[in-house]
Amino acid sequence: MVLSLSTNMESRYIRVPKNRGEQVRRELIELEVIDKNLKIKREDDNVLIPVIRPIEGYETDLGDFEELIIVQSPAEILGFSPAYEQIGDIAIIDRHEPQAQKVAQVLLKQNRIKTVLQAETSVIGEYRTRSVSILAGERRTETLYKENECRYLLDLSKVYFTPRLSTERARIADQIQDGDTVVDMFSGVGPFSILIAKRFPGAHVIAIDKNPDAVRYLKENVKLNRVRNVEIREGDAREDLKGVSGADHVIMNLPHSAIEFLDAAFGVVKNGGVIHFYAISHEDDLFDGLLKKINGAAVLSGFHIVPLEKRIVRPYAPYQFNVCIDLQVLSSGVG
Ligand code: SAM
Repeated sequence: MVLSLSTNMESRYIRVPKNRGEQVRRELIELEVIDKNLKIKREDDNVLIPVIRPIEGYETDLGDFEELIIVQSPAEILGFSPAYEQIGDIAIIDRHEPQAQKVAQVLLKQNRIKTVLQAETSVIGEYRTRSVSILAGERRTETLYKENECRYLLDLSKVYFTPRLSTERARIADQIQDGDTVVDMFSGVGPFSILIAKRFPGAHVIAIDKNPDAVRYLKENVKLNRVRNVEIREGDAREDLKGVSGADHVIMNLPHSAIEFLDAAFGVVKNGGVIHFYAISHEDDLFDGLLKKINGAAVLSGFHIVPLEKRIVRPYAPYQFNVCIDLQVLSSGVG
């Protein structure tokens, strides 16, 4: 039985139970149909043996078997693991990838990838964006990305975005309660704000970003996800949150410089509220130095802090990690 058909980078395999694998392999060698360029794959209680042509219909002594066609991964095709990230139907190849053109051609043949970009810079500047060049496919940098049952339209050359925070965004959303006020101080195109707003229609989410392009997409994404409880502000998180107070949660997802905005966060959070603070830390001191600095800022604002959770979100660079500390904020003299 042929299980699936695909037109791209496909390889044909015979699936048999593990305990018959060796016998079937020998018989396939006899038939001269083994694909010697590919490795045998293991899959639960079965093995998948690569073959160069259909077996079904031929007189064989193979007994029961399934014949299937599998789309090979880029690493299998290239013989090395290319460094790239897929966001919607666009792949971005790492700027240090030496064989970028070759990788681009392989990626373009993968399901769903319509455009291949290469990063020309790291994520830089106040708006945390990167320059990209178009290597292959449709000439565009805008894509639609789905995460945690939300959809985000975004332009990878104009706004910050990484799919690597999807679990982290869900983790923060899990801590919110309907009716909460949430301030997302560096919202980008809205992946924290919209997820929270969608899951908790009774929450009031204030999303602010300084990058006009990020705010334009944030507005689009609010419409796209049909949420009505996001208040959007374009501007500086320190200047333009004036008048906001009593937040149950404040999200500070600007890891390189969130520390400079703590006074603004203490200005909007309620007594007993929680700040989700992101930073980049060296592996030798992931949390202690950071907590000292945060505590110093808290004292200046008349608060003290209680760390509720400290966690590594993801590796960031050699010896460096993107970390998050969830901090409960209490007025000095309380708790
Ligand atoms: N939270 C979003 C996400 O997960 O995709 C975006 C995070 S990105 C690391 C940080 C965002 O902060 C960028 O969109 C940038 O434009 C914005 N930003 C930088 N400085 C800012 C400031 N002073 N006030 C408000 N937003 C700022």
